[in-house]
Amino acid sequence: MKTSLLYGIVADESSKTRVRCVFCGVYIPKANKCIEQHTNGTRHKENIELMSENGINCNNDVLYCKPCKRTLNEDESVTKHIDGDDHANWMTAMEDLVDGEFISLVPYLSGEKDEVFCEVCNCSVECTPLNIEEHVNDFNHRANVCEKLKPLNGIFAVENNDEVWCKICNLYLENTVKSILEHIDDDEQHMDWFAEIEDLIDGQDISIESYLSNEHESNAYCNKCHVEIGCNVLSIEEHISTEMHLS
Ligand SMILES: [Zn+2]
Ligand SMILES: [Zn+2]
Ligand SMILES: [Zn+2]
Ligand SMILES: [Zn+2]
Ligand SMILES: [Zn+2]
Repeated sequence: MKTSLLYGIVADESSKTRVRCVFCGVYIPKANKCIEQHTNGTRHKENIELMSENGINCNNDVLYCKPCKRTLNEDESVTKHIDGDDHANWMTAMEDLVDGEFISLVPYLSGEKDEVFCEVCNCSVECTPLNIEEHVNDFNHRANVCEKLKPLNGIFAVENNDEVWCKICNLYLENTVKSILEHIDDDEQHMDWFAEIEDLIDGQDISIESYLSNEHESNAYCNKCHVEIGCNVLSIEEHISTEMHLS
């Protein structure tokens, strides 16, 4: 966001010797040096960042919150508004709704877009809790999420179309959106494998993507050493403690 020196700074009707910062809700002596000091300050910059993370924009020196669909009162600073129940509840509800659904709120909140985009359905959705809730529960969306998650979870089609195979757990599942998503989200063995492996490779520059997406690949790959490693806890543990990898 481009910020001019006077972005957010407005005249104060009741006094000729001070100005007001709309974002921070504070008064500043009307002197270039003081204004500059304020607009270069940490709090002011943080508030501008908070605005773009919270769907608040500034038009003609008035703050408007897109999620709450209203203009902020004159005595309502950015932080005061964000901490208020209405706004905080909206954010919590929405973040909860889009979690794991391949929908990002960022372009909407930063003011770049008026709608949110669903990456798996390849469509825009109006950004209200009701619409998003409806969208993420729609069968087509669930099916698209399922397709997206299969290659990230080592799940493969088998000849018999009634089942799919989980490479990680080496077991067959019913080939339905519900049973596959349940396996990915709730199966303890499946989730434990990911938790353990991801913990091990965290910060190690080891990738497991091709192991997960290729049925016949049995190795993980160390991008640092340019070697293949058996994609299991023991082999990875061993590899990350070798001299080659540590150096
Ligand atoms: Zn300020
Ligand atoms: Zn709001
Ligand atoms: Zn969707
Ligand atoms: Zn599994
Ligand atoms: Zn290595």
